[in-house]
Amino acid sequence: MNSKRGFTTTILHADRLTKPEHGALHKPIHTSVTYGYDDVQDLVDIFQNKKKGYAYSRQGNPTVSALENKVTLMEKGLSTIAFSTGMAAITATIMALIKRGDHIIASSYLFGNTRSVFQTFIDMGLDFTFVDATSVDNVRSELRESTKMIFVETIANPATQIVDLAAIGDLCQQKDIIYMVDNTMTSPYIFRPIDVKASLVINSLTKYIGGHGNALGGSVTDTGLFNWENFANIFEGFKKQVKPEVLGITQIRKKGLRDSGGTLAPEAAHSISVGSETLALRMERACTNAFSLATFFEGHPHIKKVYYPGLKSHPQHEIAHHLFLKYGALMSIELDNSIDCFEFLNKLKLVVKSSNLGDTRTLAIPVAHTIFNEIGPQKRAEMGISDSMIRLSIGIEDIDDLLHDFKSALGESKSPK
Ligand SMILES: *Cc1c(COP(=O)(O)O)cnc(C)c1O
Repeated sequence: MNSKRGFTTTILHADRLTKPEHGALHKPIHTSVTYGYDDVQDLVDIFQNKKKGYAYSRQGNPTVSALENKVTLMEKGLSTIAFSTGMAAITATIMALIKRGDHIIASSYLFGNTRSVFQTFIDMGLDFTFVDATSVDNVRSELRESTKMIFVETIANPATQIVDLAAIGDLCQQKDIIYMVDNTMTSPYIFRPIDVKASLVINSLTKYIGGHGNALGGSVTDTGLFNWENFANIFEGFKKQVKPEVLGITQIRKKGLRDSGGTLAPEAAHSISVGSETLALRMERACTNAFSLATFFEGHPHIKKVYYPGLKSHPQHEIAHHLFLKYGALMSIELDNSIDCFEFLNKLKLVVKSSNLGDTRTLAIPVAHTIFNEIGPQKRAEMGISDSMIRLSIGIEDIDDLLHDFKSALGESKSPK
């Protein structure tokens, strides 16, 4: 693929340029679970990583590969593996690369389910330290001899903290530590973690990349920047079979995807692929909508606080301005005491009360009562989540309709004309 082509052009033509049969523009949905070979040597070579091909669909499928190729192009990486969900991608990648005795430093501002599975890993004997990663100094002071990985998100959900992305990347490179960045909230259109020296990039394909709330999926992309040859946990058998640069991704595919079984279905891969064609268009629109709404909320007398990286008042606005193409489409707000949070939400007619994010439709959820209910008040406080916080995932509706809905719910405007 001509790497000079733009983001959208590249994705639109990615399938076609691999020449699917009959001149199809989309990679077809291949439903075969297994693949047969006339010469058994071909099958053996695939098993021994000597030849590319498909054996059993749990660890590879042509339709899924076509999507993996697109994510690799979007992230400007080396190689990608898709999973059934974003959580499967995170879980399987850590399972594949980390052993007992290893230490991981993770941002304390994490997606709730990621925090939950990390607690499961702790209960199983892995060592985690959670730090306020908005400053690299907090990360550096927790480094140990056994630190194998640093895990962060780009824009945290729901309070939109942005970690010290570039400085942590420098630190990881200097210390030869895997830098795993969850890019879900920004998407590769707004930000590419390879630009801050990430080793592995996670995307929940369910969110912006798929974009329509109609398919679950996840991915991990190897940027090619980490030197796997010296990484202690690489399985000896792989070292004899594959080139050093693909050791990491091979281990994640075999030990991670194959063993966990978190495989993406080809039908879902197709839906996500089609959705990804308009990622740039949707992000442009959703981010513009989000910026307008954040500005409206910030000036509103009944809104106590707005969390949005695009606002100058945001503590990491400068980082966002410097690193991201846009400021994202997720924000949180806190109402003042004169408005009941549930009453406000129930007055919204257009905005959907729902837990997803990155949909084409605007979604709202009271955070402390739902997605962050399980972890309790103390951890919520540590993560900067107040009881009256409402998270908004801004969609691509017409901005006047969104403004009207929020204004009505805030008690400003009468019924529509
Ligand atoms: C949603 C999300 C995930 C998990 O993705 P699923 O596809 O829902 O499993 C991981 N990280 C972040 C930042 C997310 O928003």
